[in-house]
Amino acid sequence: MDLYEYQARDLFESHGVPVLRGLTATTPDEAAAAATELGTPVVVVKAQVKTGGRGKAGGVKVAKGAEDAKAKAEEILGLDIKGHVVKKVMIAEGADIAEEYYFSVLLDRAERRYLAMCSVEGGMDIETLAEERPEALAKIPVDPNTGIDQAKADEIVAAAGFAEADRAKIAAVIIKLWEVYRDEDATLVEVNPLVKTGAGDIVALDGKVSLDENASFRHEAHEALIDHTAADPLEARATEKGLNYVKLDGSVGIIGNGAGLVMSTLDVVAYAGEEFPGAPKPANFLDIGGGASAEVMANGLDVILGDAQVKSVFVNVFGGITACDAVANGIVQAFALLSEQGKAVTQPLVVRLDGNNAEEGRRILTEANLPLLEQVDTMDGAARRVAELAASN
Ligand code: GDP
Ligand code: MN
Repeated sequence: MDLYEYQARDLFESHGVPVLRGLTATTPDEAAAAATELGTPVVVVKAQVKTGGRGKAGGVKVAKGAEDAKAKAEEILGLDIKGHVVKKVMIAEGADIAEEYYFSVLLDRAERRYLAMCSVEGGMDIETLAEERPEALAKIPVDPNTGIDQAKADEIVAAAGFAEADRAKIAAVIIKLWEVYRDEDATLVEVNPLVKTGAGDIVALDGKVSLDENASFRHEAHEALIDHTAADPLEARATEKGLNYVKLDGSVGIIGNGAGLVMSTLDVVAYAGEEFPGAPKPANFLDIGGGASAEVMANGLDVILGDAQVKSVFVNVFGGITACDAVANGIVQAFALLSEQGKAVTQPLVVRLDGNNAEEGRRILTEANLPLLEQVDTMDGAARRVAELAASN
C-alpha cells in the first residue's frame, strides 16, 4: 500500500524524523485556514496524489499568506497529474532550502536484503540521475539482520559524498528513517528532497512510503491509512463480491482460474494483440480461483462487462480439481443469472477449456449455444481470436 505524502509526513513525525508542519485541505478556503493556522510567512501548497513529479506538473507551489495559499490551492485542486486528479492538498510550512539531497531504503527481492540509496544531488528526478550519472547515486546493501545501525549510516553518508561537517546530522536522520522502515514493515521509504536548511537543519521535505500489506495483521493503525475514495469503482465492486480483480488499461477482459494461469494469459493476450490494429491489451486481471461456481462466474462477467473499455472477454480455464464440465455449467448458468438481473452479455466471449474433463465441458457449451460465445481449444489460438474481436469491435 502506497501512502500519500501527508501520511508519510505524519508517520515520519511519529518516529522522530525531522519534518515541517503540514495540514491537509480539500477546498481553497480550507487551504487559507490551514495557512493561517501554520502562521509562517511562506507556505507550500502540495498536491496529494500517489505519483511523483508533482513539482514539474505544477502540483507544488509556494504561497505567501492565506489569500495566496487559497489562490494556489484553487489552481492545484482538480489538476490532473499523470491521470491522478488532485482532491486534496497539503499546506506545509515553507522551508528555507540551502541544499537538496536524496535518500531511500527499499526491499531488494532479488538479493534478499534491503538497499539504501543516497545522493547529495536530490530534488530532481532520481531515475534520470541514476541513468545519466550513476556514480552520483550511492547504492549500499543493508543486511536485514543488522539494518541501518550507526556504522551502516556512516558508510552511507560517506559513500554519498556529503561534506564531513554534515555527515553526523544526516546519518542520524537516516537511522530514524530506517526505524520507520523497520517498525512499520515498509517496503519503501524515500525522501526526495531531504534538505539542509539555511539554519543547517536536516529536514525530510517530501516522503514516499510503501507499506507491506502482508504485515498489516500486526499494524492495526495501518487500516486507517487506506484510502477508500481512491479505489477504482470496478475494483471496489469486485472486492465487495470477494473477487480477486485488478483493473488494467486495455480492452480485453480476462477471466481465469488460478493466479498463475491468469498472469500468463495477460502475457499471451498482450503478445497476440500486437498483430492487430490498436494492439489490444488486457483490461483486467481476474482470478476466479477453484470452484468456478455460476455465481462467481456471473459476478466476474458482471464486473468485467461493467468496464466500458472492454470490447471482448477471454475465459481461460484449465480444469484441475474443478473439472471443465463444472466450469462449463457455471458459464451457462451465469448467462442465465445475468439475464435474470437484466444484464445480458454485451460483448463477445472466447472460451478455452482444457485439462480435466475438457471434452465434456466443450460439449456442454456447444449444446447451450450461448449468444456471443465461441470456443477455441488452444490458449494461443483463443488469445489471438479474442484480440482480433477486441480490435474489430
Ligand atoms: P515532487 O515533485 O512530487 O517530488 O514534490 P516535492 O515535494 O519533492 O517538491 C518538489 C520541489 O519543490 C522540491 O524539490 C523543492 O525544490 C520545492 N519545494 C518543496 N517544498 C518547498 C519549500 O518548502 N520551500 C521551497 N522554497 N521549495 C520547496
Ligand atoms: Mn519529491
